[in-house]
Amino acid sequence: MMYSIAQFSAVLATALFIFSLYWMNDPKTARKGVIAGVIGMLVAVTATWIQPAILHHGWIVVAIVFGFIVGVPLSLVPLTAVPQRTALSHAFGGLAAGLVGTAEYFLALGQGPAELTGFRMSALVAEVILGFLTFTGSVMATGKLQEVKWIPQRPVTYPGQNVVNIGVLVVAVALGVLLVIHPAEAWSPRAFLAIVGLATLFGVLLIIPIGGADMPTVISILNSYAGLSAVAMGFVLNNKLLVTAGALDGSSGLILSIIMCRAMNRSFTNVLFGAFGTVQKAKAIGEQKAWKQETVEGAAQLLEQARLVVVIPGYGMAVAQAQHKVRELYDQLTKRGITVKFAIHPVAGRMPGHMNVLLAEADIPYTALVEMEEINPEMPQCDVALVIGANDVVNPAARYAKDSPIFGMPIIDADKARTCVAIKRSKNPGFAGIDNELYVSDNTWMLFGDAKAVIGDLVKQLAGGSGMH
Ligand code: NAP
Repeated sequence: MMYSIAQFSAVLATALFIFSLYWMNDPKTARKGVIAGVIGMLVAVTATWIQPAILHHGWIVVAIVFGFIVGVPLSLVPLTAVPQRTALSHAFGGLAAGLVGTAEYFLALGQGPAELTGFRMSALVAEVILGFLTFTGSVMATGKLQEVKWIPQRPVTYPGQNVVNIGVLVVAVALGVLLVIHPAEAWSPRAFLAIVGLATLFGVLLIIPIGGADMPTVISILNSYAGLSAVAMGFVLNNKLLVTAGALDGSSGLILSIIMCRAMNRSFTNVLFGAFGTVQKAKAIGEQKAWKQETVEGAAQLLEQARLVVVIPGYGMAVAQAQHKVRELYDQLTKRGITVKFAIHPVAGRMPGHMNVLLAEADIPYTALVEMEEINPEMPQCDVALVIGANDVVNPAARYAKDSPIFGMPIIDADKARTCVAIKRSKNPGFAGIDNELYVSDNTWMLFGDAKAVIGDLVKQLAGGSGMH
């Protein structure tokens, strides 16, 4: 009976995980997707817990309480900190897989070498390598994104780095192969612990040369490693649900990484070994050309006279939490019969879908959101391109500057609009650390200030000028 319940629950939870991923494809169904994922996880945990083989219920309660203590505060972080929060979740996943693998090896060793078949040992080695490298790699990624003092934000590189990194991994894998052949020799436990140490070290080495801008992509790659380690754990524990859930996790992480790499016109190897962010050859354009500043009144006039306004949101809109003010601006403009579209760059912000989530939160109709490929042909007919806290994703240097770290990344053609109004706080560069000539081009007007405050002023101006300062 219990066996049937476990089998049925595994199928039910797997189906819920698949629906969860499917529904998350679209902002309209994303909430349903989250709920399906939560229910799937609840079914999986409950079905495992009620199995007669579980004897020490106290430990499970302790684990759940601990999970809540860590998980509840993590669920409350602001949206801008979600990439590092996600990385931390992967760290826990990797650590769990690594620890379970280690415990299983030593338990099986105690019960006799017959337990450690070639297949089981291969799964154990894969689980432990992937688990521990995901753990330290994700902790490092979290530290970099959170700008923790003891982890350098910029890529740290040295000659022969790739050889050292790959060397560490090769030694770990070679020891793993030895262990599969000789799982229970006198030296085997030490070799196993050496694999744990090397995988832990490899996770750190893997992240050191990677710059902050590539971190979301790397987090997504680590997500797929965490998924693969769960698959291996499923084989070790003979748990089908872990195998399917891990495979879904692993493949979705991989697909997301590919989507992000394509959107930035980068390859996997370039992300992992390219040390993006070290190239700092930007010319000081700010000193060569003048930044033209516009007043709120002037910008409001430009907007009022437009027929087509394309809003290009970026990371700064997220930082300022300006989305609700943007909605008010949208209302003011559409009320006047002006067409307003939102140009969504696939890597605007700090995580895929970042802008979609923010704009949906402010109830901006999905129909007003236009993908980059669709909006670009329309940009020459656009009267005002309103850039709100976006920088790299509208930087024309991506088209031609071969020495630029964002060279080849598709951008939204804000510079092709008749006029461009850009909102940012200072003359500082964006995440890639390079200057942006869009801001000093002839038809660009700057509105300096926090995006929420500036758009608030624009709305007041359009609504009748009351309370302006
Ligand atoms: P960005 O290049 O980071 O630029 C953001 C701009 O917003 C900055 O120039 C900043 O200028 C401004 N800003 C910050 N806070 C502001 C505030 N409170 N009010 C007004 N302006 C503010 O952003 P992006 O154009 O969205 O580009 C995203 C970058 O992240 C790209 O390099 C992309 O490759 C990278 N990335 C994204 C993802 C993803 O999944 N989304 C993944 C990997 C990499 P001031 O400081 O002067 O205000």
